[in-house]
Amino acid sequence: MPKIKRMISICIIVGCTKKAHARSWCNMHYSRWHTYGNPTAIVRSRDDGNPIHGLRHHSAYETWKNMMGRCYSPARHNFAQYGGRRIRVEPRWHDVRNFVTDMGLRRAGYSIERRDNNRDYSPDNCYWLLTKLQYLNKRPRNSRNFSVNKWAL
Ligand SMILES: [Zn+2]
Repeated sequence: MPKIKRMISICIIVGCTKKAHARSWCNMHYSRWHTYGNPTAIVRSRDDGNPIHGLRHHSAYETWKNMMGRCYSPARHNFAQYGGRRIRVEPRWHDVRNFVTDMGLRRAGYSIERRDNNRDYSPDNCYWLLTKLQYLNKRPRNSRNFSVNKWAL
């Protein structure tokens, strides 16, 4: 029997025994990270029953959910500034799969922003903005107690 060489490194995801390919992940986990921004995206979504396969763990999923809420859920605290002003989400983006295809990964600290605040959420009107900049831009001068996270919603 040939001797097994031990110089091959193994994927760092717990329970995965495949050969590491990039970023210490195997091909499968690397491609999940590349697609969803999370190497264990699909593995973790197996038990949540979500029909949107894996995308619940996409880095931009919460952004999509909050955007839809602002525009279409009158119960949302900030609905008045969005749906209440007839700000809509482009129909193509009602499907989260199209949204993440167009917008790509959300990097940490970034939020979706519209170039023209009177226009809808659409691929040509939206971009990722560092939340910190958005925060400085929108923060009322007298308010010192808002957290960055609140503005990111
Ligand atoms: Zn792996």
